[in-house]
Parts: sequence; structure tokens; C-alpha cells
Amino acid sequence: MFDVAVIGCGVIGAAAAFELSKYQASVVVLEKENDIAMGATRANSAIIHAGYDPKPGTLMARLNVAGNAMTEQLCKDLDVPFARIGSFVLAFSEEERATVQALYERGVKNGVPGLQILSGDEVRQMDPLVSPEVVCALYAPSAGIITPWEYALAFAETAVVNGVELRRSTEVTDLKKIDGGYRIETNRGPLEARFVINAAGVQSDKIHDMAAPHAFTVIPNKGEYYVMDKSECYRAKHVLFQCPNADGKGVLITPTMDHNLLVGPNAQNISGPVNTGNTAEGMAFVRAKAAQTMPSLAYRNAIRNFAGVRANTDKDEFQIGIAAEHFIDLAGIKSPGLSSAPAIALEAVKLLNECGFAPEKKEHPVLTRRKKRFRFMSEDERQAAVRENPLYGRVICRCETVTEGEIVDAIHSPIPPCSVDGVKRRAGSGMGRCQGGFCGPRVVDILSRELNISPLSVLQDGEGSNILMSETKKEAQA
Ligand SMILES: Cc1cc2nc3c(=O)[nH]c(=O)nc-3n(C[C@H](O)[C@H](O)[C@H](O)COP(=O)(O)OP(=O)(O)OC[C@H]3O[C@@H](n4cnc5c(N)ncnc54)[C@H](O)[C@@H]3O)c2cc1C
Repeated sequence: MFDVAVIGCGVIGAAAAFELSKYQASVVVLEKENDIAMGATRANSAIIHAGYDPKPGTLMARLNVAGNAMTEQLCKDLDVPFARIGSFVLAFSEEERATVQALYERGVKNGVPGLQILSGDEVRQMDPLVSPEVVCALYAPSAGIITPWEYALAFAETAVVNGVELRRSTEVTDLKKIDGGYRIETNRGPLEARFVINAAGVQSDKIHDMAAPHAFTVIPNKGEYYVMDKSECYRAKHVLFQCPNADGKGVLITPTMDHNLLVGPNAQNISGPVNTGNTAEGMAFVRAKAAQTMPSLAYRNAIRNFAGVRANTDKDEFQIGIAAEHFIDLAGIKSPGLSSAPAIALEAVKLLNECGFAPEKKEHPVLTRRKKRFRFMSEDERQAAVRENPLYGRVICRCETVTEGEIVDAIHSPIPPCSVDGVKRRAGSGMGRCQGGFCGPRVVDILSRELNISPLSVLQDGEGSNILMSETKKEAQA
């Protein structure tokens, strides 16, 4: 019997596992996909929000501000790209000026540091391409940008190094209360755990209902984006929000940690099976709204569209708490979930303690992680890397300057990828302008060689996404 089973390995399950891995406890993480961070964690705005948006007194307000304050040091320790670039909420009318004032006051109540209301001219001095129509803005210097899947990977990899067991392609199908814990049914057979943590994102209401009376319903809500080429990154120096409305934080424009420009999202409730396809209407809405912030965006330089699905619920609050004996919800974690993740993880440990589970701390848990990123190395560092491992001298992804050495290191990392997109999330290959057109086949080759599997078995992403169907030139070669 495990001490704790965490269901779901998005950023919330991963952060909880990392926190628990500091204790003398046996922990298993169950993830239904073939990789971690395949839900909302890989498709969002990637902002570490300052914390002026949630209502004072809510968990969202407290955990957002606390999570924001923890992020910088964690990212240094775990080698996750993060930059505190600051954000603006732009007002385009006198009515919106009042919204900005209200957000300022809310932020002060929430304990957000450094908030200021700036005039339109002051905003344009700091971000010159912002629309001349902007009359004022809320400036939040503590807001930042991050690479969200890398954040989750950093938590999960470090947890695994500390002894946490991660079971991928393992879907929880039922929970039964047994003496001293739970019997957990999965598509790969049952297991038992004394405590269960529900971090299942858009499925978290279903997992909750397996252990406790129905308390909330997830209302999946899709947000769609444009990713623009690096040549567009210069257009925004800060995160540029519009005033929030009933649909959420509105359409934003922001640079990313990979020096692209991100434009989106819309907010559309969806029914039926969760899907992350883009829609013509959604993208048209994003373009129209973004034009208000910055009329000059050049969509011919868009290199990709994507969509993420928020785990909104019928309650305007994170669903965090002890839902049943030995069962903890970290559920319905919508935005600002990414920003709050490390604080939510601390909350999970506190709730376990309240349930009577208080393991000793490990004496020397691993709390740091290092990655080699060739594209960010100096010339001297590059030469040293190539001397140490000649695979660092062979560039596989030309757009992002990712070497074979980084890809091979990723394939042999604590949570090895089993797909081309898994390599992309770890090494950055395929993220650039050609979106893997050049490096994709080479990554298939390297995965096949390093994992000793047929290229026909290499996946693009999730289960069943095989790239190659059969050998076409076999007879000709023979
Ligand atoms: C469009 C959009 C924009 C956003 N922007 C921001 C932002 O800028 N800043 C911010 O702070 N937050 C933002 N968020 C919110 C943030 O992305 C989420 O709060 C966060 O990623 C939630 O993480 P999670 O681990 O709870 O969920 P997920 O990442 O969805 O992870 C849940 C995991 O559970 C697994 N799972 C589900 N059911 C089962 C099962 N039965 N058995 C096993 N595993 C299961 C899933 O496969 C998945 O991997 C945004 C979200 C969206 C969608």
C-alpha cells in the first residue's frame, strides 16, 4: 500500500508530488496520458499572475500571491525559464478606467507588491507599440512569464529522482474505500493507497464523485491562441492584458520565454468530449480583440495555433480541501492555477497533516535540477559542451538550435519522453518557425535508435499518434 496516490500529473499533481518527495513517504502519481503535462498545463497563457484579479479572501487570491512569490527561487533551483517582466491591464475608456482602479484596490487587499496606475503615455513609453487609444493601465511589476510544461516537468522529474513512482498511461477508473485507505482501479490493474490526492484537472469532478458526494461540476472552457514567429517578439515587452470581463481575463499579447509572441485566448464553454481543436470563429475573435491593444500585429508571421481547456467549475473558486476520509481535492484548478501551483502543493501537505498523515522530512532530498540548453550558451560554453560530448556539435533543430546531445539527454532523463512532442517539450526541438518540418524525421530516427524501437512505433504525441504507417521502399531496396 502506497502512503499517497496523486491522480493526475499536470502542474498541480507534479508540484504536489515534488513537495511530498521531501518527506519519508511512498508516493505514486497516476497519469492517464503517455506523458505528463498533457492537459491545461501545456496549453495556457504561461503567465505567473501578480494576483490582483481574484476576489479578496478567496483561496485563488491567497494562493496566487503566495505562488507568485515562490516562483522565482523555485525556477532558479529547478532550472525553469522564468522572467518577471511585469504586466499591464489596459483601459480604453473612462468605464474601463474605473475597472483598473477597482483591480488596483483589489490587488492591494490581496497583498500584491508594487502596483501602480500609469497614464496611457507612461504605458507607451514602456511599451511603445501599445494602442494610442489606451487611457491608463494597472502596472503589476511582479507578473512574469514561464515555460509551463517545463515547470511541471521540473517538479515531476525532481520528485521521481527523490523516489516518487510515476505511472503513465494509467487511467483511474474507480475508487473504493477500504480499511485505512483506498483501492484504486485503473486500466492497468488495481493498487492501494492510504491517502488520495485528486489533481485530475477537467476530470477532477468525476474523480471527486468516486470518493465523495457530488459537490461541484467542471464546465470545460476552451481558450485559443496564435503563436507568432520570433520576428514579432519585439512588439510587446510586458504582458498586455485588456480589462477582465464575465468571460475571464480577456485577450492578451505577451512575449514568451522562447522569444515568440503569444496572442489569445478567447473563452468558450464546450460540451461533449474535451477537444483542443482551433475554430475559425475563435481565431477571428482573438484577432479582432488583439487589434484593440495593438493594431499592427502581422498574422502572416503566425507559426502555430493551439487551444487549452480550463477546468472552470460552477463555483468561482479552486476546489481545494478534504472531501472525504483520506481524500483531498486539488480540483477545478482554473487560472491562476499555474501561478498558484507551488502554494497549492504546500496546501496539499497541510491538508494531509490535518488528515493525520505527518511523515518525517527526508534528511537530504534533491531540490535542484540542471539542464544544458545549447542555444543559451556562450561560445566558450558551447565548445566545452562539444568537447565533453560530440553530440552537442550536431544541430538537429535549426530554427531553435537544439543539438543531438540535448535530445539524447532528454530521452534518458528521469521521465523519458516516448514521442516527438515529448522530446519537443523537453529539448525545444520543433518549437521554431518550421514547426518540426526539418527536425521531425531526425528526432524520429534518434528516438528509434535510443529506445531501440522501430521508427514505425515512434509517436508524434499521445497514444495512437504513430507517424509512419509502413515501409514503402522495402521492396525496391531488396
Ligand atoms: C487557455 C488557458 C489559459 C490559462 N492561462 C493561465 C495563466 O496564464 N496563468 C495561470 O496561472 N494559469 C493559467 N491557466 C490555468 C492553468 O493552466 C491551470 O490552472 C493548470 O494548468 C491546472 O493544472 P492541473 O494539473 O490541475 O490540470 P491539468 O494540467 O489539466 O492536469 C490534469 C491531469 O490529470 C490527468 N487525468 C485526468 N483524469 C485522469 C484519470 N482518471 N486518471 C489519471 N489521470 C487523469 C490528465 O491527463 C492531466 O494530465 C490557463 C488555462 C487555460 C486552459
